[in-house]
Amino acid sequence: MQRLRNLDAPFDLLVVGGGIIGAGIARDAARRGLRVALFEKTDFGGGTTAGSTRLIHGGLRYLEMLDFRLVRMDLRERETLLRVAPHRVRPLEFLLPFYDRELFERAKLRAGMLLYDALSFDKDLPNHRSLDAAETRSAEPHLSPQGLQAAVAYYDAQVDSPERLCLENLIDAREQGAVVLNYAEVTGALHQGAAVTGLRVRDVLEGGEVEVSGRLVVNASGPWFDRVAGRLGPHPRPRIRTTKGIHLAVAPVSQRAVALFSELDGRLVFVIPWLGYSWVGTTDTDFGGDPAEACATAEDVDYLLRSLRRYFPPIASGPVHWSNAGVRALVAQEGRESSVSRAHRVEEGPPGLISVLGGKLTGYRVIAQEVTDLAGRRLRLKAPCTTAQAPLPGAAGRAPGEAPSGVEAETLEHLRSLYGSLAAPVLAIAASHQEWAARLAPQYPDIAAQVAFAVRQEACERLTDFLLRRSLLGFSPDQGMAAAPAVARLMAEELNWTAARQAAELEAYQNWVEQTQAFRGELRGSNLSYAS
Ligand SMILES: Cc1cc2nc3c(=O)[nH]c(=O)nc-3n(C[C@H](O)[C@H](O)[C@H](O)COP(=O)(O)OP(=O)(O)OC[C@H]3O[C@@H](n4cnc5c(N)ncnc54)[C@H](O)[C@@H]3O)c2cc1C
Repeated sequence: MQRLRNLDAPFDLLVVGGGIIGAGIARDAARRGLRVALFEKTDFGGGTTAGSTRLIHGGLRYLEMLDFRLVRMDLRERETLLRVAPHRVRPLEFLLPFYDRELFERAKLRAGMLLYDALSFDKDLPNHRSLDAAETRSAEPHLSPQGLQAAVAYYDAQVDSPERLCLENLIDAREQGAVVLNYAEVTGALHQGAAVTGLRVRDVLEGGEVEVSGRLVVNASGPWFDRVAGRLGPHPRPRIRTTKGIHLAVAPVSQRAVALFSELDGRLVFVIPWLGYSWVGTTDTDFGGDPAEACATAEDVDYLLRSLRRYFPPIASGPVHWSNAGVRALVAQEGRESSVSRAHRVEEGPPGLISVLGGKLTGYRVIAQEVTDLAGRRLRLKAPCTTAQAPLPGAAGRAPGEAPSGVEAETLEHLRSLYGSLAAPVLAIAASHQEWAARLAPQYPDIAAQVAFAVRQEACERLTDFLLRRSLLGFSPDQGMAAAPAVARLMAEELNWTAARQAAELEAYQNWVEQTQAFRGELRGSNLSYAS
């Protein structure tokens, strides 16, 4: 019960869910002086936040759906995030090639780009430009020339690690006095009459349950929304619709991101440069199970590869390194999955409870602002929102320019890119003892000091947390397997794990890796066209 101490005093705001939206709310509310506690049942950012395409974008697709309000909001947020998190969110050039399109359709797509520029009139990124077929080919030589007419190039942005973006919100929240706990599952609510007055929270790692009082509770549990709502009180009908999307890490085929219309059904599909791969996604299919169990099936993989075969033949024939899957929470609506609006909704009721339904990663900050404004009105607090101006912790101050002895230049560059200015405390640990400056595995620039920092400062509790959500090792070609034993040993020393616990952590990670590749076996046993 050690981890659940310090929860006796009443809080102003209790947040259920440590994904990007819950993290954004905790940060904003703590900055405005509210006493906040946030509970996450697994690891911070391990839910849908980790299953996203990793784009910070207005969304061309939502223009097609005529959702101009959402597109404008997210384009404004894109600019804000480029400003407050430049170490994490970076501009990304996209190409939208036209294949066998009628003149009218090409004109429509160009008009769409003009509108996209108009809706981001206050941006710093360049406006779109047109390319003819030859320019398109020379920009992206792997694009098939068959039927290629022209393209438009435009800018959006990419977040390399939404997991760390989420974490940095929580680090800031904690620095402002919030209590943020991972592996703390909300199992029920406290009530006074119909009003919600607190939560029951179970420690998933050590066992034990406590009751925590709060003046307001926010349900920010993403695709688990209906499940959590059912635990907080009477919840007669589902309020969200959950759809699964998958991604594939394949050999790189393009310099810039390429947006393409699926050969199978015309949906927009992306091929995005990310960590040396082409990151291919995504699908959109109703999913009724536990979001934690979503994974890419052989059919999902086959759909994506066949969608792109015409444009990028190497993708369809090359190997798929691994997959990931995420589950969207959409405000419940009938119709085809991809036609359901991505706009979020904030609702109130019963007294004491605020609910966040849906919402994109891109809009997390402004959604958090809306929720905190509402909480402030209920709690009669007037403090203004500061998150559109205040840099996230890794962007506050400069990233260190020099490495201590024993730390190679490649590692310094890597740490600067991964942590921004938070690389300084990592390097301080590396400087304290030679062992901490050692690489975790010869092929990666990551060093032992990162593990110590993650455990001591970043609430890293499990091996999977470090490999997937504190570092990017889990996304390397061997998915971090070469580094896993060293990380497990260092974590065991820091956290006093038994040998059995250390072995269990390695096994759990191995199981996760297998799940990301499970589609391979299914594909071999199927009559689907892709069988690599
Ligand atoms: C395939 C796909 C691609 C996407 N691509 C993009 C994109 O490119 N750009 C973009 O802007 N958006 C994108 N999105 C949307 C974006 O990922 C989500 O909107 C965002 O991550 C939602 O964050 P969240 O905090 O609401 O949910 P989550 O990240 O799922 O967080 C909810 C958290 O609640 C926790 N929780 C659940 N039950 C409990 C409980 N009982 N107690 C405590 N905690 C609990 C969960 O463990 C989870 O961590 C994509 C989504 C998908 C699925």
